[in-house]
Amino acid sequence: MSTVIENAYVVTVSGGEHTSGHIVVDGDRITAVGPGPAPAAAVPEGAERVDAAGHLATPGLVNTHHHLYQWASQGLATDGTLFEWLTTLYKPWSKMDAEVVAGAAAAALGWLAKSGCTTSTDHHYVFPKGRGDLFAAEIDAAAELGLRFHPCRGSMDLGRSQGGLPPDEVVEDLDTILAETEAAIDRYHDPTPGSMLRVAVAPCSPFSVTRDLLVESARLARDRGVRLHTHLAETLDEEEYTREHFGTTPAEYMDGLGWLGGDVWLAHCVHLHDSDIKRIAETGTGIAHCPSSNARLGAGIARVAHLLEAGAPVGLGVDGAASAELVPLAGEIRQAMYMQRARYGPTALTARRALEIATLGGARCLGRADEIGSLEPGKLADIALWRLDGPGAEFYPAVDDPVVAFAFGRTPPLARLLVGGRTVVEDDTLVTVPQDEVGRRGAAAHRRLMELARELL
Ligand code: ZN
Repeated sequence: MSTVIENAYVVTVSGGEHTSGHIVVDGDRITAVGPGPAPAAAVPEGAERVDAAGHLATPGLVNTHHHLYQWASQGLATDGTLFEWLTTLYKPWSKMDAEVVAGAAAAALGWLAKSGCTTSTDHHYVFPKGRGDLFAAEIDAAAELGLRFHPCRGSMDLGRSQGGLPPDEVVEDLDTILAETEAAIDRYHDPTPGSMLRVAVAPCSPFSVTRDLLVESARLARDRGVRLHTHLAETLDEEEYTREHFGTTPAEYMDGLGWLGGDVWLAHCVHLHDSDIKRIAETGTGIAHCPSSNARLGAGIARVAHLLEAGAPVGLGVDGAASAELVPLAGEIRQAMYMQRARYGPTALTARRALEIATLGGARCLGRADEIGSLEPGKLADIALWRLDGPGAEFYPAVDDPVVAFAFGRTPPLARLLVGGRTVVEDDTLVTVPQDEVGRRGAAAHRRLMELARELL
């Protein structure tokens, strides 16, 4: 399996741009990138040749925060704050089963692939008893679609009766969580180079898990050499909660529990103090920035410009899907850029910097910057090819700079998406699975969940 892309505008992200360049893919790796046509000696025998004139080639996008199962609960509590939204949605989530998760995950991942995503994480933290293997369902869906996947075994152990936000029926006990999380690592985590599947440990948030679970989760993750993920500082309600319960900001609370570090990435971090940003940057903690979700829930605008200035790794996430319905990952580049500029001025986030956080920044958050996030020889062949001229893209040539056209405008058609050298999307259509079927499975998952939860809504 080898492919040669030529005549594209190539944005390597790590090493400059080529106005008419080539990328050579052999197996699952990039073997050459540069200006002009591919040198004959670099072209593997029998390689497929792609004439990409009028196209922009970027690294595949990396989605650093998501909840695939929420595809089945989109369109609910559309005007609530985070806590109001959660309190409404915990009810249907308490009825979800493996069939719901399988359909929701397939649709959500298909949607991601269609917007240029080659690697996605997922944070699954609701495991109602006796409803099948929900974690396996999403892993199967990612394998079927052919996306690189970093599922996080999430958890909640602080039910309402103990002072937490979630109802008791959606939380698990500490011992069960630790045993199930370790079993998930044993069964699925692949630490080898080129891995398509890596597991992380991910208690849900400071207001839905106990201090013991945070401490034990960090111990387990570090014993096993896997990464840690959670939500943090998403809303001012959360800061009120940690101040009341622990006398600290959310970031100070997590810092005290060993939860800031180069093996941790945190979703949101909308409400950070200067001292929090300093600690996040000096510890190398990654941030998954989810601008549409933050806007949809009225949570605020994260201090991305300040985090980047301080040197913290920042990636993009679509979050949701129920807190940011039908949000495409590529569109988050524009959303991030515009929200930063609206708050901090027009130089707060440039188009190229926004593309960098969507690719290499995300790779840093997931601990994969040595393998994905930029177009370089030796890296995995995770590549998005966007059409900026020709059928379906007739209006784009009115902008000279392809990166400006891509980032400022409506997301252009996706001509090709390669994951480890394998074509997953062609001409804006999924090719690894029938696209219409994936869409129908997502809609069926929604109907099934609404039916299962009918008496609760
Ligand atoms: Zn989230």
